[in-house]
Amino acid sequence: MKKKQFKAESKKLLDMMINSIYTNKEIFLRELISNASDAIDKLYYVSLTDKKLKVNKDDLEIRITLDKENRTLTIADNGIGMTQEELENNLGTIAKSGSELFKESNDKKKNIDIIGQFGVGFYSAFMVSDKVVVNSKSINDEKAYCWTSTGADGYAIEETTKNEHGTEIILYLKESSEDISYEEFLEPYTIERLVKKYSDYIHYPIKMLEERTEKKEDSDEEEKITEDKTLNSMVPIWKKNQKDVKKEEYNDFYTDKFYDYEEPLKVIRSEVEGRCSYTSLLFIPSHAPYDYYTKDFEKGLQLYSKGVLIMDKCSELIPDYFSFVKGLVDSEDISLNISRETLQENYQIELMAKSLETKIKKELETMLKEDRNNYEKFFKDFGMQLKYGIYSSYGMKKETLQDLLLYISSKEKKYVTLKEYVSNMKEEQKIIYYACGESIDKIDLLPQVETVKEKGYEILYLTDYMDEFVLKTMVSYDDKNFMNVADEKMDLDSDEEKENLKKINEKNKDMFTKMKDTLKDKVASVQFTHRLKNHPVCLTSKGEVSAEMEKVLNAMPNNQNVKAEMILEINENHAISKKLIKLYKEKDLESLQKYTEVLYAQARLIEGLPVENPTEISNLVCEILSK
Ligand code: ADP
Repeated sequence: MKKKQFKAESKKLLDMMINSIYTNKEIFLRELISNASDAIDKLYYVSLTDKKLKVNKDDLEIRITLDKENRTLTIADNGIGMTQEELENNLGTIAKSGSELFKESNDKKKNIDIIGQFGVGFYSAFMVSDKVVVNSKSINDEKAYCWTSTGADGYAIEETTKNEHGTEIILYLKESSEDISYEEFLEPYTIERLVKKYSDYIHYPIKMLEERTEKKEDSDEEEKITEDKTLNSMVPIWKKNQKDVKKEEYNDFYTDKFYDYEEPLKVIRSEVEGRCSYTSLLFIPSHAPYDYYTKDFEKGLQLYSKGVLIMDKCSELIPDYFSFVKGLVDSEDISLNISRETLQENYQIELMAKSLETKIKKELETMLKEDRNNYEKFFKDFGMQLKYGIYSSYGMKKETLQDLLLYISSKEKKYVTLKEYVSNMKEEQKIIYYACGESIDKIDLLPQVETVKEKGYEILYLTDYMDEFVLKTMVSYDDKNFMNVADEKMDLDSDEEKENLKKINEKNKDMFTKMKDTLKDKVASVQFTHRLKNHPVCLTSKGEVSAEMEKVLNAMPNNQNVKAEMILEINENHAISKKLIKLYKEKDLESLQKYTEVLYAQARLIEGLPVENPTEISNLVCEILSK
C-alpha cells in the first residue's frame, strides 16, 4: 500500500493534535458527530431534488460502537459518503476555514485556544487515537474505500467493501499514560455524557447499543438485554425552552456551527407568531471574519423548515448593513422545496426579513445603551458596514442607522453618538462640525481644528475613508447640518470681524491675483483668513468635493481624476502676511512667487496631500533660508 504525505499545513496541525497537551480532548467526539450530521444533511439535501435517490428519513442515524477488547471507538453515519477523490482531498488537507485561522498564529497558547473554541474537525481524532481508519462509500460510487493513517507518517487509501453508503470512522485509542486515561472513552456512560453535553441538538438520532440486565418475568433469574439507545434529545437548541439553555451552550453551538474561535458578542433568540411564524437564533460575532470586507464574504442566515436545514446561506433574510449577523431561522411556514429562484418573491421570506431587521436594530440599540463597552467593540469591527448602509442606499436607510453610528470626538477623544454630540452642543451652535484625516493625531494638527476647538465646539474626527461621503449623504442630523471645518463656508467670526476681513482682502486684491497667477489652476483663489490661530496657512475647499474626498476618489480603481476646488488661505494675523505685503509693495514679485509656491506646498502637506514638485520646493526653501 503506497503511503502519501499530508499537505504542509495539515501536517503541522496533525502534529499539534498528536502531541496535544490540551486537556479538553473530549471535543473530538463533538467534531466527528458534527461531521456525520453534516454528511446526512447533505444526503437529505440531494434527495430533495434527486428523485431517483430513495431516502427514508426514519433510517438516517449516527451510530457509536465501543469495543473494549480492541480498544476502538467507531462513529458511523449513513450520510452522503466520500469517493476516493474526496477522501484524498478532504482528509489529506485541512478544511479551508481552519487553515486560514491556523496560518495566523504560530504561538502555542493560541493554538490551544483554537482547538478548544474553534474545533479543528476531523484531525481532532488524533488527540485520542494513534491510528484512524475511515471506511466510506459515496452515493455517487459503486466502490467503497478505506483511508488509514497512523498520523505523522502519512496516509493510505485502498479499496474495501461496504454495503451501504455513508462513512465509518474507527479510532484506535492511544495507550493511557500516568496523566491521562483513554479508557474512559470506551465507557458507555462517558459517551452518553459527552453526547448530551456537546451534541444534544443534532437532529438525527445518535444511537449506541446498551446492555442491561433485567429480571425475567415470573422468575428470579436475570437476563442480559442489548438494545439501541438514542443518546441525544434531538431538540434543536433554538427549539428548547430558553430558560433551560445555558449561555455556554449557545456559545458552543455558535463556535461549532459558524466556524468562529471566539464566543459571540451577543446571542439573540426570538420566537415570532403571526402571518409568518418562526424561531430565530442570531449571533453578533465579537470580531469580523478575516474576509468580511472582501468580495468573498457571503452574508446570509441558515434557513430551516420544521427543523430541517434547507439552505445554508439565505442572503434574502438579512440586509447588507447587518451582514455581520450569523445564525438561523426555522419556520413552519416555509416549504421544504423552496428554491433560490423563487426566494426573492417569497412573501414569507420578505416578512421574516423585515421583522429580523427590526429585531437586530433594537438589540443593537439596547447594547449601545446598556453595554457601551461591548457596543464600541462591535462598532470598531462592523461600524463601517453600518455607515456603508447609509451611503449605498443614498440616505434612504438614514433613519434606521444614524443612531447606531459612533464617532471619536475632540472633547475626550472618545466615541460619541450623533445624539450625544447634539445634546452637548452650545446654545449658539447651529452646525455639527467634523474634520477628516488619517488619524486622530493628524486631525488634531489641522490648522482649522484649533480655532473651532478654541470656540468650545466639539468636532467629530473622521478617519475612515468613507466617513465624509456618509455625512454628505445624510446632509443633516436632527435638522443640524454637517460641516467640514476645512470648508470655505466655515465661519465663526462676528459680523464686525467679517466686515473687517472683507476690507483687508479687498485692499490686497491685486497681490492675491499675482499669487493666484503663480499657482495657476491649482487653486481657485488666494485670500487672508482669521480662521487660523497660530498656523500660517491652510487649504479650504469650495463646493462639494473636499480635499479628503479628492484623496479617496483618486485612490479608487476607476480613478476619475476628481479635483477639489481649493482656496489658499493665509493667516492675516501671522507675521507671514506682513512679509507678503512688504514684498508686493517693494515690487519684489520674484520673491512673492517663491513664497507663494512654498506656502502652497506647506498647506498641501498639512492636509495630507502629496506635493507635486518636492525637489523644486526643497530648493526654494533652502534659497529662502539662506537669504
Ligand atoms: P470541516 O468539517 O470544518 O469542513 P473537517 O476536517 O472536519 O473540516 O472535515 C473535512 C471534510 O471532510 C468535510 O468538509 C467533509 O467534506 C468531509 N467529511 C468529514 N467527515 C465526513 C463524514 N462523516 N462523511 C462525509 N464527509 C465527511
